[in-house]
Amino acid sequence: MASILIIGAGGVGRVVAHKCAQLPEVFSAITLASRTQGKCDVIAAEIMEKTGRSIDTASVDADSVPQLVALIRRVAPAMVINVALPYQDLTIMDACLATGVHYLDTANYEPLDEAKFEYSWQWAYRDRFRDAGLMALLGSGFDPGVTNVFCAHALKHHFDTIHTVDILDCNGGDHGYPFATNFNPEINIREVTANGRYWQDDQWVETKPMQLKRAFDFEAVGEKNMYLLYHEELESLAVHLPGLTRIRFWMTFGDAYLKHLEVFRNIGLDSIEPIDFQGHKIVPIQFLKALLPDPASLGPRTKGKTNIGCIVTGSKGGSAPFTRYIYNICDHEEAYRETFAQAVSYTTGVPAMIGAMMMLTGNWMRPGVWNMEQFDPDPFMAALNSHGLPWKDIAFQPLDDISPPA
Ligand code: NDP
Repeated sequence: MASILIIGAGGVGRVVAHKCAQLPEVFSAITLASRTQGKCDVIAAEIMEKTGRSIDTASVDADSVPQLVALIRRVAPAMVINVALPYQDLTIMDACLATGVHYLDTANYEPLDEAKFEYSWQWAYRDRFRDAGLMALLGSGFDPGVTNVFCAHALKHHFDTIHTVDILDCNGGDHGYPFATNFNPEINIREVTANGRYWQDDQWVETKPMQLKRAFDFEAVGEKNMYLLYHEELESLAVHLPGLTRIRFWMTFGDAYLKHLEVFRNIGLDSIEPIDFQGHKIVPIQFLKALLPDPASLGPRTKGKTNIGCIVTGSKGGSAPFTRYIYNICDHEEAYRETFAQAVSYTTGVPAMIGAMMMLTGNWMRPGVWNMEQFDPDPFMAALNSHGLPWKDIAFQPLDDISPPA
């Protein structure tokens, strides 16, 4: 039994708080803190109504290490679950080191003023966490997170060498708005307007944004166009999967979404460079965020399902190559009924809770800074089945090779 501090009261924080509250035998005391305490209080009231459990709330600016240290000292949790934004990863890791508590997040660090994310900043904390006897678990959402665990499961139960991995992320949900993002718009738009990149034959191959496209028939959703993106789990999986020759990430987007994005790009509304506006400095993408629907408000309106998984080809004992497809289907309306959040938040928040449970129950406790595929996948895969994200593991065929036009 352990006390936890959750930082960030957005869509994902809401799900993490609800799911942890459902397990008092693991999470005996819960504090939810965010910049805006009122958001935490709303979630606390929902949890009281759903489970009868009382959780504490607090206000914190997670960009400030002294504020974080003071809060952590007051709450005295065993670990911090960071579901604020990727910009806060390093300050929260610093505060965990200063106070001697374990750390978990769902997205890797990204500097506010540079559209660039990579693990180097957080991997640089390995020695400090190990020497302090503390654990940091990176990327315990769905992708990264469950997709990494699916790869570890494939390696443990099907293959001794993995040749190729394709990660497929499909959101078949419909919220009825002409344009809205399912999670933080700033993070989402920065991610999808960046160049694509995939790993092949020991090097990164770069593509233009949305340059590689193919159709795929997703179970429970139907046929959708998906586009090759760079995604953070590619970086750690390229290092940790033996024999890997190619890893790619694909995400589905509808035509209306892409059309809006193109217009935002053309007029500079997705820019992170501050501009002068009537005597003030404003950042265009932050202004756009203020105009767009709050992702948290999409929950009650969203219908349909997500389907996210990994197509893995490899061999075992010198066998001919064969392929498995491991995936989860999640229903937006069911997720909302349980946690007042749609499936994109649900599929991120449930694995964050499970990652914390793996650490606190000792299944995955190991000092240092780790990615998800570095642990035994079995207890995590079992927990997915029993906590709302059941998965399938079927024989499949590899995705075709497609290359960027020369
Ligand atoms: P939201 O924008 O809905 O919520 C983020 C929350 O963080 C907000 O409530 C905000 O606070 C809080 N916050 C932001 N800055 C600070 C700060 N300086 N101090 C304290 N609190 C702060 O995002 P989501 O819930 O959708 O996403 C949360 C995280 O999950 C993000 O890092 C995102 O990248 C990640 N994610 C990971 C996925 C995965 O599969 N691995 C998928 C989806 C998301 P307030 O509202 O109080 O101002």
